[in-house]
Amino acid sequence: MSPSLALNNLLMFALIMNTTTRPALDISLTPLYGRGRKLALKLAREARVIAQQGLLTTATSAREGSSLHNHGAEALSIVAELLKKVLGDEWVVSDRDSIEGYIYDETPEPIRPKAAERLVLVKPASTEEVSRVLKMANEYRVPVFPVGGRTGLVGGCVPTKPGIVLSLERMNRIEVDRENLMAVAEAGATLGDLMKAAEGAGLFFPPRPGDEGAQIGGLIATNAGGVRAVKYGVMRNYVRGLEVVLPTGEILKLGGKLLKNNAGYDLMQLFIGSEGTLGVITKAVIRLFPRSRYMVTLIAPFNSRADALRAVPEILRSGVMPLAIEYVHLKDIKRAAEHIGEKWPVEEGQVQLIIVLDGMRFEEVFYACDEVAKICEAHGALDALIVDNPKEQERVLRIRGSIYTAIKRDIWDTLDVAVPPAKLGDLMDALDEIASRYGVDLSACGHAGDGNLHVHITRDVESSEVAEMIRRDIYAAAVKLGGTITGEHGVGKVRAKSLDLVLSEKHVEMMRKIKRVFDPNGILNPVEYL
Ligand SMILES: Cc1cc2nc3c(=O)[nH]c(=O)nc-3n(C[C@H](O)[C@H](O)[C@H](O)COP(=O)(O)OP(=O)(O)OC[C@H]3O[C@@H](n4cnc5c(N)ncnc54)[C@H](O)[C@@H]3O)c2cc1C
Repeated sequence: MSPSLALNNLLMFALIMNTTTRPALDISLTPLYGRGRKLALKLAREARVIAQQGLLTTATSAREGSSLHNHGAEALSIVAELLKKVLGDEWVVSDRDSIEGYIYDETPEPIRPKAAERLVLVKPASTEEVSRVLKMANEYRVPVFPVGGRTGLVGGCVPTKPGIVLSLERMNRIEVDRENLMAVAEAGATLGDLMKAAEGAGLFFPPRPGDEGAQIGGLIATNAGGVRAVKYGVMRNYVRGLEVVLPTGEILKLGGKLLKNNAGYDLMQLFIGSEGTLGVITKAVIRLFPRSRYMVTLIAPFNSRADALRAVPEILRSGVMPLAIEYVHLKDIKRAAEHIGEKWPVEEGQVQLIIVLDGMRFEEVFYACDEVAKICEAHGALDALIVDNPKEQERVLRIRGSIYTAIKRDIWDTLDVAVPPAKLGDLMDALDEIASRYGVDLSACGHAGDGNLHVHITRDVESSEVAEMIRRDIYAAAVKLGGTITGEHGVGKVRAKSLDLVLSEKHVEMMRKIKRVFDPNGILNPVEYL
């Protein structure tokens, strides 16, 4: 008898036993061995519990049980029923309408991966509950897709296979430790929550990715950057400790409220940027900074985009370290302002640099501002507007953060290439060449101080084949300049097919091996290349 047939028979047998209320299952009847036998016994035991509790009719149990081994999608129904016992009915959702809002992120629709049909949304309230979800999913080989705020731009959280969508939104507590300048945040708290909590304690959380609905777990899993990474760096620079649940259900505590920690391999760093493929982040210790007393934003318009971007390395070399150096096209930023009912304050030039400077002393900030304005002028800036009112500065950043939402419906893909900062001007020249070769407009915006540009390929290109070719050419141009295909959004499910441009076969092979160490059954956010 084949193992799967034996397993099915065993399950049928277990269920018949339930209806005739005979006592224990005679395990010696099964010819299965090793893992298969263990799994069969477990399935039989749990199917029996379900049937006894009247959660499923015996007929349904038999039907589900008989195909468990062959169809992961059906194992899902059993796991869902079992999870209701652990989390409570309310937190295990199978109704498609209620799940719909959890299965897509902000990836432009033309390139967005398709979500699977059979999904169960699970909302645990504690690390222990997350652990039980994963343990069960691992035993039944049911895929689990962790979702955060679904603000990702590469389809990373989209559940592409039948399985469990795991939302940590109920785990959203934040405690600020002023003494150590750190926050302990649960993974489901949002960026907005963390910024407010830090501010409430008179402290500052510098990273500012554009969507405040992103969650701590998602920000760490994608190693997010944002506009204020120039001076203090990306998420990796802030995370000091992590609590992670492995796909096997084991709980791992890494790091702590420490600024130095050299004990053993730094596994914590592996989870940062792992995009939900190695473990589920449940809690993090995050470094905060004192709030600077003075902050000034300078807007410099240019007629030439290469000129604007060539000013950036000069600013970085000057000894002034801005919090942010952003690059925008005037038409995009004006559209973003209109989109949120605002007016952009500078109407000159084709492109603009937005530079944020901060410090503890007025003279220091004033000097930095003067220095930056001189460099911009020397590179052809038409003007330099200084915004020093905090409310106005917040408004400027809010408009900047709305570019993507304003233009999203026209976009086929928004690329996230990064090059060494001094190569940005060259990247722009290459973009101009590609745009004229294909006869398209390639507007861009991005974190110029980090060498990170978001190039927009619009939906009005001739066909998706042509759009693919444009994307490939832009990637090739960035890589040729020593750059990469993603500076901050990550690989997700959208960039996977282009990874060969930046990672060697050996690199991917090592990643696959690491994946297997943490996730032997490949249940957590399964992606093709791992
Ligand atoms: C308008 C706009 C502006 C943006 N600006 C920036 C920017 O400036 N810089 C930047 O870096 N990004 C930016 N983004 C992208 C996005 O906000 C970030 O990638 C963010 O970090 C995603 O967080 P999230 O909670 O929304 O994660 P999701 O999109 O829900 O998920 C992202 C990935 O993280 C995984 N994940 C989520 N939670 C967990 C968890 N608890 N444990 C393990 N894995 C988990 C998911 O499986 C998925 O792979 C922007 C997006 C938008 C819409």
